[in-house]
Amino acid sequence: MPTYDDFRIESAAIPNLKPEEFLVANRLLAIDPAIRGFLDDGESYLPPVAIGDTVRGMTLGRIIRSRNSAHPPGRFVRSLAGWEELSVLSPHAVGLEIVDAAPETPLQFYMGALGPTGLTAWIGLNEIGHIKSGQTVLVSAAAGAVGSVAGQVARLQGCRVIGLAGSAAKVAHLKALGFHAAIDYRAEADLSAAIRAACPEGVDVYFDNVGGATLETLLPLMNVHGVVVVCGMVSDYNRQDEPQPVRTLWQLVVKRLTMRGFLTYEHAASIPTAQAQLTQWIRNGSLKVLDNLHDGIENAPSAFIELMSGRTVGKTLVKLNEFAL
Ligand code: NAP
Repeated sequence: MPTYDDFRIESAAIPNLKPEEFLVANRLLAIDPAIRGFLDDGESYLPPVAIGDTVRGMTLGRIIRSRNSAHPPGRFVRSLAGWEELSVLSPHAVGLEIVDAAPETPLQFYMGALGPTGLTAWIGLNEIGHIKSGQTVLVSAAAGAVGSVAGQVARLQGCRVIGLAGSAAKVAHLKALGFHAAIDYRAEADLSAAIRAACPEGVDVYFDNVGGATLETLLPLMNVHGVVVVCGMVSDYNRQDEPQPVRTLWQLVVKRLTMRGFLTYEHAASIPTAQAQLTQWIRNGSLKVLDNLHDGIENAPSAFIELMSGRTVGKTLVKLNEFAL
């Protein structure tokens, strides 16, 4: 578990921009479980953050100075920068995207349901899960950032949706979002029986955010030719040295399952379609957005600790006032 002592805040001089670079005043920091993985000293899809370096994370901000005519001041951009008020970026910054923020839409939506979170839900369900109307879709960490969107997207695409979440309050949120059934997995002595009761026709697509014991429970409950969309395995992120065993993998053969992981940004071709669909659903009120907002960079560590304790509902973000030069 991360603790407050793992973090410190430092001030630094604002560097002079080199040709092609631009200075971004960050307005939002995404507080994501993936950050926990970046802090482990192990091989992953990105190099680990070294001790003493800025914590890596997705940011959204406005360009306030520029030596790049393609990225003029005033424009909003998202990128995988870090927990900092100002970022010096170049066109090669990891995950750099121009954000065409509509003034009537809350800016934080572009980091959540209209940003990486919503895109992850849509792409996982459609590009990996290939969901079809009438199927049963089960989502874990369903009250979380990705899960709360994934459940709603599957419902809007005609699926029967069941959510797993870790408290009675979270279950109430899921019911309010329109999940057909929701289970407090911590309160069930026999989770397998509870899922069977909620899914009398079995599970066609399991959107897995947590891995571990929940994945072990789900595999035998999948229908033949079902799909496990491996979005993440957050239940192991605080314990990478001793990940929980999944002892039911043989079910992949018994049920001829497909189990596939993905990274959202490897599906760039689908992003415009996903973005357009999510925008339409949010504008017409059929997709509800859950936010967990914190203020000020000094509160980023506590927001992250809260996220990694499993208590949060919706997308955890830190809002920053635009840095005045
Ligand atoms: P989140 O769901 O808002 O927050 C994490 C939730 O995970 C917690 O609230 C908790 O909810 C659940 N959880 C279960 N076991 C846990 C444990 N041992 N410790 C802490 N939390 C635990 O987070 P998110 O941002 O939406 O991310 C969800 C998953 O999607 C993560 O695995 C993340 O890595 C993944 N992700 C993948 C991609 C991709 O491109 N593949 C992109 C973004 C996110 P309950 O107790 O209610 O279950």
